[in-house]
Amino acid sequence: MRALSKHELVAGGTGHKSLMIPPAFQVMVKPRGSLCNLDCSYCFYLEKEKLYPGASFRMSDELLEEYIRQYIAAQWVPEVVFAWQGGEPTLMGLEFYRKAVALQQKYRRPGMRILNALQTNGTRLDDPWCAFFREHNFLIGLSLDGPRKLHDAYRVDKGGQPTFDRVMAGLSLLKQHQVEVNVLTCVHTANVDDPLAVYRFLRDEVGARYIQFLPIVERMPATGSQEETQVSPRSVDGEAYGHFLNTVFDEWVRRDVGQVSVQMFDIALAIWLGEPSGLCIFDETCGQGLAMEHNGDVYACDHFVEPGYLLGNMQIIPLAELAGSVRQRAFGLAKREALPRYCRECPVAFACHGGCPKDRFIQTPDGEPGLNYLCAGYKAFFSHVDAPMKLMSALIRQGRPVTDVMTAL
Ligand code: SF4
Ligand code: SF4
Repeated sequence: MRALSKHELVAGGTGHKSLMIPPAFQVMVKPRGSLCNLDCSYCFYLEKEKLYPGASFRMSDELLEEYIRQYIAAQWVPEVVFAWQGGEPTLMGLEFYRKAVALQQKYRRPGMRILNALQTNGTRLDDPWCAFFREHNFLIGLSLDGPRKLHDAYRVDKGGQPTFDRVMAGLSLLKQHQVEVNVLTCVHTANVDDPLAVYRFLRDEVGARYIQFLPIVERMPATGSQEETQVSPRSVDGEAYGHFLNTVFDEWVRRDVGQVSVQMFDIALAIWLGEPSGLCIFDETCGQGLAMEHNGDVYACDHFVEPGYLLGNMQIIPLAELAGSVRQRAFGLAKREALPRYCRECPVAFACHGGCPKDRFIQTPDGEPGLNYLCAGYKAFFSHVDAPMKLMSALIRQGRPVTDVMTAL
């Protein structure tokens, strides 16, 4: 299988006239499939095991090399990001990632910068893992839902035992080795009413400098199907999520600007500055973040790993062709085209863009389907931050420090 030339990529000139291959796209790779050593109650990915009955759930060395070769060949940007996920990606063992970074060096083009991001529950980390992450500048996403009681509410192991101490031990090792860590905190019914307890714990006790909040919206029954409409009792509703974000924002904007990066606030600032949000959920269209299973099957998105959204296998159809396929383009454009009128007329639509299609399963007040389950939260948040965001973007445009917002408020 040959690599496509830049010209072919731009023109889509592979004989597939309908292709429009993007200059860059991301793939969330699941080298061990959905396998995990934990059993978090809200995990949407554990059940994906059912898609591959009897499978080994282990990416082969041959596929690893083919993936790295194709992925690098398809990227026409100076920086290429490899995203390793699961399940729990450390279950592949360290040797797999040693091979991966060696292969990245083998295939990278001159001047190309390679970055690796790995999302882990942190419970399996030891000195060799952390030394490796540091040596190769891995960005580690660590899942931690707040102080012990709030974290352990849903993040349990296969025996139902709490995981907080093991995660904190992993975090401590990451810090000792000076690995860059981004804390991923799921927001659910157990912690949504304690926004300041969560945020202050992450800021003061964890020492987190990069924080990402992820609202849990789980449809019931938990088949993962995009056609179900009920949600689990663990799921946050829009109002509660909006209150959570606004409360954390009020504390952050008065004392932590420039010290702590909270993804949702960074996104808002980018939008108010007229820049791309940096997160597909708040972009007008999406479709450039694919997901790949352990056997090379490529899906439209991490949240759409379902038979109906399987684009093909990259060992049969090149990855770039899957990313640029008509189906994938239609998937990405549907985010904009399926937007209900209620969203199109919404005063914060410029920032929200209707949110992620996976959560668009309720009706608008006038009965139109396709409204985001978190709508009330997004509306509350983007309205709440409007004045401070205007102030912060004005400061930046004037060349003044954005931290001045704290004294101004
Ligand atoms: S479906 Fe949602 S998560 Fe997936 S690419 Fe689109 S906006 Fe992003
Ligand atoms: S806030 Fe609600 S109505 Fe407005 S764009 Fe977002 S989902 Fe649509």
